[in-house]
Amino acid sequence: MADVKSYSSRPVLTVNLTALAENYKYLAAKASPAKVGASVKADAYGLGAAVVGRALYGAGCRIFFVAHAGEGKILRTAIGSKASIYVLSGNTPQDTAIFFGSKLKPVINSLTQARDWVKACQPVKHAPRTALHFDTGINRLGIPKEEAEIFATDKTLLTDLDVDLVMSHLACSGEPNHPLNAIQLARFKKIAGRMPMVPLSLANTGAIYLGPEYHFKLVRTGIGLYGGKITDNPQDEQVKPVVELHAPVLQIKTVKAGETLGYNASFTAKNDMKIAIVSAGYADGLPVNLSGSDKRIVTSARLGKSRVDVIGRVSMDYTILDITDYDGFVELGAKAVFFGEDLENQAAHAHMINYEVMTHLGARCRKIYVNE
Ligand SMILES: *Cc1c(COP(=O)(O)O)cnc(C)c1O
Repeated sequence: MADVKSYSSRPVLTVNLTALAENYKYLAAKASPAKVGASVKADAYGLGAAVVGRALYGAGCRIFFVAHAGEGKILRTAIGSKASIYVLSGNTPQDTAIFFGSKLKPVINSLTQARDWVKACQPVKHAPRTALHFDTGINRLGIPKEEAEIFATDKTLLTDLDVDLVMSHLACSGEPNHPLNAIQLARFKKIAGRMPMVPLSLANTGAIYLGPEYHFKLVRTGIGLYGGKITDNPQDEQVKPVVELHAPVLQIKTVKAGETLGYNASFTAKNDMKIAIVSAGYADGLPVNLSGSDKRIVTSARLGKSRVDVIGRVSMDYTILDITDYDGFVELGAKAVFFGEDLENQAAHAHMINYEVMTHLGARCRKIYVNE
């Protein structure tokens, strides 16, 4: 009797740390002589901030960005005391102690944040330095135009803030021909010209491909490190896929022509079919919009060397695959693979962006970090 393969029902998210480090080096070469900082907010886009942070640190990264102080605290524990960790949301009253305790640098986004920070720092001996984030047209978080003048003229405030980075953020960096890019660049240069001589940063991943005039001293990359492509010319982006979702086959069965499959009976078997039930659903980050109905098959998964269609509705824990024409033997525990090189396609088919798909993947899957 053949050995029974051991397997678990739990889906696995594989994170390729070798590809991650190679992507860091690739982006660093593209951005050079500018430095590359890493955006590891939202648990490193769902991939695990502690392990990803350590891997990037190992690849040479010394500047990190998170969204919240709590994220910064976790990262600080993971990577040690040497790297800079900026908190993009800036200081908020409830989090001041975390900033001091974990040596986090607030990204100051308003005059209110600036004054609160200076006040909080008064009793502190070695307060962390700060970044100033000017809004140059995204009209999201950032120092608004009408406050920029005060920062440019209030020398005491600037001295007290101990600024070591002046930054802004582009709204359309993935669209090279969008006129807002040049407008934001011009506004950023104008503001930066009135600031003390500190390093400047404007670019996220997409803006690396806009050209060197967008790079300044530091680029802030996130999605590119994780293998995501964002520009109109994805062939320019030689980053390697980092993330795959592996869904184990839990059951194989046959269904008769005319039977319906899954919730809402949205798919009808036109002929007798052979199907595989795999263990991954929307609770694992597999978008329900990838469901295949009678109207339309939306996507397929990789099984061995072949591709098999997703049929019926993606449910919370399970997804159905059509293996009728599959030419190999499918054993229980075999893994159906989603995302990887298909990330952008599958995100588009789900009417999502790759960032969004990625941040949904880490919640329930077991993460396995791969070194090639
Ligand atoms: C998230 C974020 C980044 C990183 O953006 P990517 O598109 O993932 O490279 C950079 N800067 C700011 C302000 C951000 O919020």
